[in-house]
Formats: sequence, structure tokens, C-alpha cells
Amino acid sequence: MTDPGCDPKAQNRDRVLALLFAQGALSKPQLSQLTGLSMPTINTHMRDLSDAGLIEPGEMLNSSGGRPALSYRINPAARLAIGVDIHRDRLNLCVVDLAGQAVHFRAVDEPYADTSEYSSRLPGHVERFLQDCAIPRGRLLGVGITMQAVTDREGLRIIYSGIVPTAHFDPAPLSERLGLPVRLCHDVKAAAQAELWLNPGITNGVYVAMSEHLGGALIKSHRIEHGRFGYAGSFEHLTLGHEGRMCYCGRQDCLETYCSNEALLRGETPEAFFAALREGGDPSHMRRWDDYLGMLSRGLYQVWLLLERRIILGGELACMLEDEDVARIEQMILRYCTFTYGDRGIVERAVVLRHAAAIGTALPFLAAAIPEQARPIEAWPAADPNPTN
Ligand SMILES: [Zn+2]
Repeated sequence: MTDPGCDPKAQNRDRVLALLFAQGALSKPQLSQLTGLSMPTINTHMRDLSDAGLIEPGEMLNSSGGRPALSYRINPAARLAIGVDIHRDRLNLCVVDLAGQAVHFRAVDEPYADTSEYSSRLPGHVERFLQDCAIPRGRLLGVGITMQAVTDREGLRIIYSGIVPTAHFDPAPLSERLGLPVRLCHDVKAAAQAELWLNPGITNGVYVAMSEHLGGALIKSHRIEHGRFGYAGSFEHLTLGHEGRMCYCGRQDCLETYCSNEALLRGETPEAFFAALREGGDPSHMRRWDDYLGMLSRGLYQVWLLLERRIILGGELACMLEDEDVARIEQMILRYCTFTYGDRGIVERAVVLRHAAAIGTALPFLAAAIPEQARPIEAWPAADPNPTN
């Protein structure tokens, strides 16, 4: 959307749009009342927003005492963005709308390779996906790529990739072929962004990705916290063990080495592992689960002690958690604690449990189409030549 800057007309149009984002459906008389703008002015803004495809008529609303009035709401399909989630063994693609929902999804059997050929094949997969979904190109705002690599705040470059090599990965062919901006996002921060958008009750929190690899992201004042150099929240490299296990980061006994999928599942799928665990017949599954939770809760205790923010469990394994598991993790953390916190819950399961990273990496493009006062998350920042924090 155009920058309203100091243009009063644009500012008022954004106030109308922000109210529709925040409240869902409102009639013109309600918008007039809430903004203090006259009905003719509201009519002008609504016509502009309708011409831009951003709003659509909704239900008739019964106003107290007055005549029923037609409501208007955001048209979520008015703007779309693409999420590309690069995995070691596949590619997950999705199209996300202004409501933060993945309206189309596709898993592609394309194992990642750190080669220029892989980067050259990416645009073809995305183009076929868009064609099959019949996505109008004019509605697309950009492509977010996410992978197991830490990126800079602006999403322009990878700053750490200890899990997968990325020296030859190049997003430029995708941007050139689609004619769209492309940004990169750490998969854990992307998943946390999806949670932040779709779980509006979160102000501050620690997002924990219980996935192939353990990961963390910090949420502070409705924003993802990057820290001074971009690595804030990486609690998976807390050194807590004593068994000399090698971490992909090159150090020994990081929490990751005890709380990765490999450490827990030993080659089983999460579904098979948890089916065996719930049946309760195999002591090996129970012991591995106890060990996993024991180390995870030790790590989360340190995080809780330092930050005292709600702990949100997301990622592949969070899909398998039952309420009793979440309560157990909380009790294990609290058992370590010096202080008492009453019966207020400190651990919860994420709201977005499927395709969170693919959705989350697309969202900053959509945030840019929403007036700043109603944005669920931040839009991509402009490149900063002199970052300070
Ligand atoms: Zn490590």
C-alpha cells in the first residue's frame, strides 16, 4: 500500500482499513462513528478501498434502534504472498492471504542441494504451483524463503548455516523469473512469526521449535527479537549435557544434541514413536521421552529464569503433544525454579502447528499491505547499511 506519510486523506483511509482489519466487519455508519469522519468521507474511502479490491461487502448488521446496514470486511485474497520452506529432503510451498492463512499448499519431492542448479530449479517449481492454483500474479507481493539457517534481520543474506551448507544457494533466479521481491528467513523465526500473527494474545514469549533440530525465537512487544547480531533466542546451543555429544555447531553437549528428532526418534517417524509411547509397552520409548523432556525442561528453565516469558511449544513434535505432556513440561521446569509462580500457566502449545515456517516467511510481505497500527507482525525492514542495537 502507498505510504500515507503526511497525506491526511491517505491517513484517514488507513484508519478505516485498520479498523476493518482489527474488528472484522463494520458498516459505514459504524466506521463514521469510530473515526469521527463524515458519511460522505467514509463513502469516498470505501469506494477507493473497494476499487483496490481490498474490501468486500459482508452481512447486514442490525444497529441498535436504526435500520440494518450492510457491513464491509477485508477481502483476504486481495493480496497474497508465497512461502517457500526448503528442507533437506523436500520443498514445501504455500500461498498465504491477508488473513495469514495458507490458502494453497504443495510438498515437492526436491531434496536440497547446495548448488547453482538447485537454485535454478526453484523458480520452475514455484511457477508450476502458482499456475496450478490459478493465482492472479498482480495480487502477489513477494516470496519468502525459509530454511534451517540464520539470516540477517532484513532477510537479505544468510549469516549462519551450520546444518545445511548454503554457499551456492542463490535466491536471485526466483526473484528474476517471478518478478517479485524475495527475502530469506530463519525457519524458527518464520514459525514464530506465524504464531505471532495467528495467536494475537501473545505480547512476549519464547517460541520453541521441537522439530528435526531444536530451535528458539524470542518475542518481545509483539515483535521477533533478533538481538544485536541476529542470533537471539538460540537456546538450543546452551551447553547442559556431560556425555560429549557433538553438535552440528562444532561444540559438545549443546541442548540440541539431546533434544533433536534424531536423539528422540532414532530413525522412527514421530507418528510411530508416539504411537508406541502411548501404548506404553516399550520401556525404551518411555526412557527416551523422559530423557528428552528432562533435558528440554532444564534448558527451558534457564530461559524462563532469565526472561520470564510464556513458553510456546511449536514444531513437528508439538503436533504430537497431549495436554498432559504440556503440563508435565511445565511442572518439570517449575521444579527447578527458585521462585514460586502460583498456578498461572507458563507453557502452552502453539496455535499454528502445521506448515508454520512456510506460512511465517510469507507474512512480512502481507504485513506491508496492512496499516501499521493494525499489523500483526512487522513488515520486512529496509536494508540497514549501519546496523546498531
Ligand atoms: Zn551447538
